[in-house]
Amino acid sequence: STVYLNGDWIAAEHAKVSVFDRGFLFADGIYEVVPVYSGKPFLLERHLARLYRSLREIGISVADDAFWHELVHDLIKRNNYGDANGLIYMQVTRGAEASRTHLPGPDLKPTVFATINPLALHWDQPAPVRITLLEDIRWLRCDIKSISLLGNILLKQQAAAVGVIEPILHRDGLITEGPASNFFAVRNGALYTAPKNHLILPGISRDWVIELAAEAGIPVHEEPFKVADLPQLDELFLTSSSREVQPVGQIDDIIIGDGQCGPVTAALIEAFHASKRRHLGR
Ligand code: PLP
Repeated sequence: STVYLNGDWIAAEHAKVSVFDRGFLFADGIYEVVPVYSGKPFLLERHLARLYRSLREIGISVADDAFWHELVHDLIKRNNYGDANGLIYMQVTRGAEASRTHLPGPDLKPTVFATINPLALHWDQPAPVRITLLEDIRWLRCDIKSISLLGNILLKQQAAAVGVIEPILHRDGLITEGPASNFFAVRNGALYTAPKNHLILPGISRDWVIELAAEAGIPVHEEPFKVADLPQLDELFLTSSSREVQPVGQIDDIIIGDGQCGPVTAALIEAFHASKRRHLGR
């Protein structure tokens, strides 16, 4: 594949950065992931708005809106994703310096990298998965889409060790999110999800599902959700750009509802698919 690196388009295997890049030394950078359906980036403006916010929060300024739109467009075109589904990955680090010091110098040139990979999509209802509950060991700025993901990696490893694809995390007795997804609980026909603050990533799919729920007349409560309330749930699902709406049938020993995809989750999966068809003009 052809990747973008600091103004150049090059074969992936030839893309190289300095060992003094602060991304390599300190994970001093941020990233963004954008789904592409049949060659069209989905909810691009929202993903770019989150990218700009991440950059602002860590004090890096890079190019303008036109640059990022062109980058996304060229990435799709150069890699022949005109009719294909893909996931765009964009990363910005603070750049390379002559020596390793925690405090960055004033005039660094950010390193900008972007690539696209195939996205395996389901257009029907995904099977419910089993997940596990783990303590949220990550830092306190989860609202920044940082490339420093050691906490997330340790949690993913812990989940894989018990044979599940994704954990959900709790901090001080409250559910935050998954290391790569947001969570939604359903009780008595209403949705519950963690409020947007420094403890979660403001998921683009999360916000999209909230809007779809509002359109469908489903009440949504963005408020702290207690671990102690998990056994009383009717339904549970996760959201992310790569998984869209993923039903959950079981958390550890707790079977959610009857362990199947519930009616509210099923309605939101259908609404999500319908919104994708609208996006593609089908
Ligand atoms: N939460 C975390 C920690 C994530 O890394 C992600 C994305 O992978 C999400 C939530 C879901 O966000 P989005 O819906 O924007 O993909």
